[in-house]
Amino acid sequence: MTVDSTPSSPLSTHAQEIAPAKSVRPPHFLEQLVQKDIDQKNINKLVTRFPPEPNGYLHIGHAKSICLNFGLAETFGGVCHLRFDDTNPAKEDQEYIDAIIRDVKWLGYQWDGEIRFASSYFEQLHDWAVHLIEQGNAYVCHLTADEAREYRGTLTEPGKNSPFRDRSIDENVIEFSKMRAGEYDEGACVLRAKIDMASPNINMRDPIMYRIRKQSHHQTGDKWCIYPNYDFAHGQEDAIEGITHSICTLEFADHRPLYEWFSSHLPVPHTPKQYEFGRLSLNYTVTSKRKLKQLVDEGHVDGWDDPRMPTIAGLRRRGVSASAIRKFCDMIGVAKSDGTVDVAMLDHAIRDDLDKNAPRAMCVLAPLKVVLTNYPEDKTETMVAPGHPNRDDLGERKLPFSREIYIDQDDFREEANKKYKRLVIAKRVRLRNAYVIEADSCIKDAEGNIIEVHARIIEGTLGHNPEDGIKPKGVIQWVDVKQHATFDVTLYERLFTEESPDAGDKSFVDYMNPDSRKLKQQCVGEIGLSNASAGTTYQFEREGYFCRDEKAETLSFNRTISLRDTFVG
Ligand code: ATP
Ligand code: MG
Repeated sequence: MTVDSTPSSPLSTHAQEIAPAKSVRPPHFLEQLVQKDIDQKNINKLVTRFPPEPNGYLHIGHAKSICLNFGLAETFGGVCHLRFDDTNPAKEDQEYIDAIIRDVKWLGYQWDGEIRFASSYFEQLHDWAVHLIEQGNAYVCHLTADEAREYRGTLTEPGKNSPFRDRSIDENVIEFSKMRAGEYDEGACVLRAKIDMASPNINMRDPIMYRIRKQSHHQTGDKWCIYPNYDFAHGQEDAIEGITHSICTLEFADHRPLYEWFSSHLPVPHTPKQYEFGRLSLNYTVTSKRKLKQLVDEGHVDGWDDPRMPTIAGLRRRGVSASAIRKFCDMIGVAKSDGTVDVAMLDHAIRDDLDKNAPRAMCVLAPLKVVLTNYPEDKTETMVAPGHPNRDDLGERKLPFSREIYIDQDDFREEANKKYKRLVIAKRVRLRNAYVIEADSCIKDAEGNIIEVHARIIEGTLGHNPEDGIKPKGVIQWVDVKQHATFDVTLYERLFTEESPDAGDKSFVDYMNPDSRKLKQQCVGEIGLSNASAGTTYQFEREGYFCRDEKAETLSFNRTISLRDTFVG
């Protein structure tokens, strides 16, 4: 699918807003479900949560979950918690916590109360583990990892009971306290729930609740050397926080019976319910933290916020706005099945947002000097151009104009056929926001490259057609030679050339686009761009959308997206 959002499409006059306009689509299944729970008074107030594991930066898939959880809370007058699911200190880091907080805030969402951490419930989770042991519902198991795998069975064969399954409650209490006290090495034993080794659902075959990890934790330091597994922790965290709708992705559907088993076997203060929705996958894109981390660690990209990364930080640095991401998430809907969304839909949402909101500017990526021979040498005029064709609130631009200007090398030919609507010798073109000019001659270097064009302005053509009736063929952008900004521009294309780079056993790094990044140096733009702020994305007329790179030491712009889809995969 190719979505074409031309810059000339009708423009809205709405002010930039982070929240997308109230959605006009019909309610999706989770909205219907919450509505029903409210109507039937099953809940007093909706409480959702976004529970990232701080083991990487958030990506576009997480944005969908954020928009869903925070969006439901907004729609139904409820609240959403931000909770770090920090049960695996080996892979977690404060850098990720900080980045996640920044990204959620930047997307325009506010969590209810303090930021929450699964690790602050460790004591309670531990007590509940002891409770299960005391009820005969959990045991310490010393099978090795290999043995445990063998005992677990397969999808078609039931598992076998562990030889440690029937040890006494007292013995289990002592063994678990020894685990906690650090008396065992990592991997020596685990705490398991005693459920059913013959269950057709492998998740119910005495799943692991606690593992030994002799690792310092970013929140709890060295207090613990046993850490709860996701399945044991997550539902209980939801219960502690009074989450009414625990929404997760589809791969957790098979974990739901376990989620319910724990809450029905524990004296939890509240019984949350788990619902699943389809994960967001995008073609030409990898959306797995583990794989994105590999791209970073192996140096295939310049970090998590490389503008080519599908991370929130990468998209932001590339110049994508929070409202474009929110609109995209709203647009793709929420389904009960997994599906791959065409990345062209994301591009469309980005272009649509920028078309409406991006201030306009003129820039020339490959400058060619034009001398306007009939224009006085010491004269400078100031042309005035709108900040945006349909947005008075974006003000006006003042454009100095004098005898020497730059145009793009692609916008001049000595000769050309009629299809070429730019500057040609003895032909006319309009300079955007300024005069009509006509080219007379050009100067070449020793290799025959055109290095300068001589042209004339046609008098009386500011805002008017030439009086002699010979109209210009097209409109091109220009930049004043005396007063302009000079900068580098980086053009980005998709990171992968393959539609599904990580499907099956494919090694996604083999499908990286070698041309995903192109640096253009010594570009010039209108003088106002010298003060561009990193948070503003401009439409460089006829070139695309660009935003100032927040990290570069010199003035430098990243291309957010081209004006139209030109990618050939
Ligand atoms: P990854 O697979 O990228 O490592 P994850 O599921 O392990 O992601 P978490 O930090 O556990 O990452 O995710 C936090 C929340 O975001 C979870 O509720 C998860 O279901 C949701 N989420 C993660 N990836 C996606 C996705 N592609 N689409 C929708 N929701 C997602
Ligand atoms: Mg996860």
